[in-house]
Amino acid sequence: MQDSFLHKGKRKQLIAYLRGAGISDEKVLTAMNEVPRHLFIESIFEDFAYEDRAFPIAAQQTISHPSTVAEQTELLALKEGEKVLEIGTGCGYQTAVLVAMKTLVFTVERQKDLFDFSRKKLSELHLKPRFQSFGDGFAGLPTFAPFDKILVTCGAEELPVELLKQLRIGGKMVIPLGAQDQQVLYRFTKISATEIEKEAFGIYKFVPMLNNTQ
Ligand code: SAH
Repeated sequence: MQDSFLHKGKRKQLIAYLRGAGISDEKVLTAMNEVPRHLFIESIFEDFAYEDRAFPIAAQQTISHPSTVAEQTELLALKEGEKVLEIGTGCGYQTAVLVAMKTLVFTVERQKDLFDFSRKKLSELHLKPRFQSFGDGFAGLPTFAPFDKILVTCGAEELPVELLKQLRIGGKMVIPLGAQDQQVLYRFTKISATEIEKEAFGIYKFVPMLNNTQ
């Protein structure tokens, strides 16, 4: 599969749609206009790759809706060169958007199939993160902490304390929290070692954040 003029045209339409839906961080929109989402999903979905839809990927997981990726990324308020920890690499699409925004991305995936797929794909597209790990995201990546931003792309029942520890003071963590069938998207800002600001941004449905690796 290639990145044709047709794909590029559809991508532009998706960006216009996201702008209309309220995404205003131009850096997010520019990055999403650059990353060929159709190359991260199975070819049977190619024609719908630039619609605001989620699709199944390997290991019974899903690639998030473009609007969810845009919203989560915008909430991080990213600046070039920031260190970002992503939990749940999945097929690597969200990772690619973060890399395209010129941030230093450290990403963790617990499913071996997806870890292998995303590593190959991101390398082929020259959108390689700084570090890619096969492991359990509940533990974060203490060796590389602290992070400026943390993005969790799966739904956790409670805030993972270890991740909060790995966020620098002043840093932000975007994470869906709640029961398995639906979650509230939250942004936590670490004001000081003991003070956390918590903001809620609507209801979503993410795949669950699970323990251990598979
Ligand atoms: N951002 C991804 C979304 C994938 S869905 C994309 O664009 O495709 C969320 C991913 O989180 C799944 O791949 C799932 O396997 C992974 N995941 C769930 N629990 C995890 C954990 N504890 N550690 C790391 N990854 C986890």
